[in-house]
Amino acid sequence: MAKRKNSKQVEEAWNGFSSYLTSKGLRVTGQRRGIFDAIFNQKGHFTAEQLLARARELDDTVSRATVYRSLPLLVESGVVREVDVGHDNKFYTINLSSEIFKAQVVCSDCEKIFEIDAPFMEWYGKTVSQNLGLDVKDQRLQVQAECPEFRRQGTCLKQA
Ligand SMILES: [Zn+2]
Repeated sequence: MAKRKNSKQVEEAWNGFSSYLTSKGLRVTGQRRGIFDAIFNQKGHFTAEQLLARARELDDTVSRATVYRSLPLLVESGVVREVDVGHDNKFYTINLSSEIFKAQVVCSDCEKIFEIDAPFMEWYGKTVSQNLGLDVKDQRLQVQAECPEFRRQGTCLKQA
């Protein structure tokens, strides 16, 4: 089982997301709550399909279309962020504002994603942009690497 996030943080995130929906004239539905809860049941990074499977375990009325329509809203409202690792599949992860900047390290063979704290990146972005008089909107650091399995066996068990 995935470790549960602190429930106060989850409720705060839910309040933020439901007021975002309301501000957009969108309804706060049971399906959207189901998807939201599924996100906070996920561990690490997930694809839309993984999220759909998890949401259906919690609420079997959740449709694929609702998941695909909800993800951009969840990104825009800041509940999750997209993790672009340069592959066809988009990955998502929970975006807690209290979190320190994360850098993605991706195994170049099995595509497993590792995240490491990279607080210096935040400093870097702020310093550079302050010098230029700009506001940072987004920044990312991606590192290609070989996972332990790759090092041991020269290949990885591919992820399903
Ligand atoms: Zn690997």
